[in-house]
Amino acid sequence: MSTVQSVLGPVDTAELGTTLMHEHVFTLTADSQAQWSDEWDEQTRVADAVQKLTELRATGVTTIVDPTVDGLGRDVPRVLRINQQVPDLTILVATGIYTYADVPGFFAHRGPGALEGLPEPMVDLFVRDIEQGVQGTDVRAAFLKCAIDHHGLTGGVERVMRAVAQAHQRTGVPVMVHTHPGTRTALEVQRVLGEEGVAPAAVLLAHCGDSTDVDHLAELADAGFLLGMDRFGVDTILDFDSRVATVVAMCERGYAERMVLAQDAACYIDWVQPDIMPLLPNWTYLHVQRDVVPALLERGVTREQVDTMLVANPRRFFER
Ligand SMILES: [Zn+2]
Repeated sequence: MSTVQSVLGPVDTAELGTTLMHEHVFTLTADSQAQWSDEWDEQTRVADAVQKLTELRATGVTTIVDPTVDGLGRDVPRVLRINQQVPDLTILVATGIYTYADVPGFFAHRGPGALEGLPEPMVDLFVRDIEQGVQGTDVRAAFLKCAIDHHGLTGGVERVMRAVAQAHQRTGVPVMVHTHPGTRTALEVQRVLGEEGVAPAAVLLAHCGDSTDVDHLAELADAGFLLGMDRFGVDTILDFDSRVATVVAMCERGYAERMVLAQDAACYIDWVQPDIMPLLPNWTYLHVQRDVVPALLERGVTREQVDTMLVANPRRFFER
């Protein structure tokens, strides 16, 4: 038996079941939220999250993987309070740092940011989250998260990525990297994590599904990475038909074992003006089960391939 740490304690990976590999409970800009926002009411938002996650669980999804880390307003005590009210949903949380450019100010003049040659303090902090618990709770992070967007491999992005790799080497938990397929930043991930000795099979390249470049995706899959077709519903970046067609084409080429599905949705995200959200009607927790899976089946993807993407691949990722 192989176990993975969830918000509510260790879970047999065989019990993860139907898993959405990239959903946030909340995506918040913690500092700005505290300064400017009148949109947050704790009780209302928590009750709304309990309702939305209960609806999601009712569709047959048993696990969500939440890559909310420093830079996205991670609040694991709050996620714990919510999960306790939806106890039959498994939530896996992450440690790491989400930045496209600089390290957070907190780390700017610590470790190698202060003096070249000093050890990287992020590594011990990530390991503490994985081995002991996050933010004073007993909840342990199940995976590591970092990001590289169209800005490329800035100094800050590289510092975080190498710290994530080193925490992976010490703990064995897998790594999720936010990538920008339009500028092929996954190739930088391949190089840097390769230099740090991280096996591609332990790495999920998030947001591959924003691309229709099947040759590029096949190249990443051939290298051994798991690909996140994980923004169904973000129709402003890529429309539904194109996202579906890309997964279909990849399945036809034999890559079902290298893809996972998700929406990158949240109960509430403060990055988007609330009155714009109606322009994204499919960007909810329910889109994959309600619309995506039927469309894949209709276009020739088999039920077995769908299960591979929703059940077997997530399980294998967390069994490492
Ligand atoms: Zn995300």
